[in-house]
Amino acid sequence: MTERGKSHLFYQGRGRKPVLDQARGVYMWDTEGKRYLDGSSGAMVCNIGHSNDNVLDAMRRQMERSTFGYRLHFETEASEALAAKTAELTPEGLDRVFFVSGGSEAVESAMKLARQYAVATGEASRWKVISRAPCYHGCTLGALAITSYTPLTRPFEPMMQPMPKVPAPRAYLDGLDPEEEATGHHYADMLEAKILEEGPETVLAFIVEPVGGASTGALVPPAGYMERVREICTRHGVLLILDEVMTGAGRTGKFLAGDHWGITPDIIVMSKGYAAGYVPLGAMVAHERLVEPVLDDGGFQHGFTYAGNPLACAAGVAVLSEIERLNLCHNAEVMGMGLKARLKGLMDRYPIIGDVRGKGLLLAFEFMADRSTKAPLPTDLRAFDRFVQIAYENGLIVYSRRTRDGTEGDHILVCPPMIVTETHLDEITHMLDASLRQFMEEIHHKLPKTA
Ligand code: PLP
Repeated sequence: MTERGKSHLFYQGRGRKPVLDQARGVYMWDTEGKRYLDGSSGAMVCNIGHSNDNVLDAMRRQMERSTFGYRLHFETEASEALAAKTAELTPEGLDRVFFVSGGSEAVESAMKLARQYAVATGEASRWKVISRAPCYHGCTLGALAITSYTPLTRPFEPMMQPMPKVPAPRAYLDGLDPEEEATGHHYADMLEAKILEEGPETVLAFIVEPVGGASTGALVPPAGYMERVREICTRHGVLLILDEVMTGAGRTGKFLAGDHWGITPDIIVMSKGYAAGYVPLGAMVAHERLVEPVLDDGGFQHGFTYAGNPLACAAGVAVLSEIERLNLCHNAEVMGMGLKARLKGLMDRYPIIGDVRGKGLLLAFEFMADRSTKAPLPTDLRAFDRFVQIAYENGLIVYSRRTRDGTEGDHILVCPPMIVTETHLDEITHMLDASLRQFMEEIHHKLPKTA
């Protein structure tokens, strides 16, 4: 990488990255001409691939008409069209859409709508939002309070209202069979126990990532879990919020991950693939039954300045059209099966891969020092960091985090854009193979004997 002057920009750390020049389809190029395959769609965002011409054309057309119209002053055709399309693609009854600019904002909006609904319907004692441990729902203080990922939450604990948590259904770690309904019920019943312990009259909502994201590494719930969760929430008057920020817009092989289990939540939140990285955009989609009492009770006391921006909404409409035109949910399902089979092939050859999981093109593998005991790799290897760096040097972008509360248990998410072909899958597998070999060479002498 050529030496560059001081950057005035900062994010998490001091590390510098190559400068992005161009991106097209599944590939990205830096200004020095190096090509990368975007094997994580950014942060599971660019689902339809980079620089899609139809989306760019739609954005250009909208830009030439108007780029901003404040929602208190105008309705726009773009925001009405996106709201209507979104309502059409989400389960029946969920047909009121509230626009935001990202996932954390969508989660905040869902929590606040749920709370205002409780207040408006005479249930003001309900305020607790139960979530799972681990989970990730966003970085703003409200969304962080329902997140469970120690490195991200610890510094801010005194500033947040503690919220109840239940264990995420990590059957593979607990030695339970995920195909058995009894396993799903075992974990779902922990939610009911928690609701009863807290007092159902105090519990407002349960929020869940239907297929886990970065905090669990594409955790797929065991059989019977989601259906039972829906029943429990209904029984206790607790609203079910599906966080589809990462899973929505087709990534798991259906438009919404919740569709795999045929459940209807009360609220859905989306972002990431919903606008596929073309613009900052997210949405909260709520059941009419929740929205009407809030509007009758003086209105929803919440909103962001950029919400419903016509340029963002025009891009969103075009992204959803491309998902349909190119049949990308189906492609995510088929290519996801092909990629998962290839990852399992790598697991056969590399004993440090202890688990391969996920649905559609939301896939991950988890490193383990010992498959039989599920012991994680030594934390000081920082495998989640190092492996991503090696793959990056080899021209493959993947995403990683730590599965076990963010402190150990390294997993790597492999989530290419939903436009991938078999040839791309072979290329990804080849680069993963080379990167795993290099990583093993680096660390084999530091591993416990069993690995
Ligand atoms: N919810 C989930 C499941 C996510 O994966 C994320 C981001 O990774 C968020 C919420 C927060 O979204 P954002 O980073 O756009 O605020």
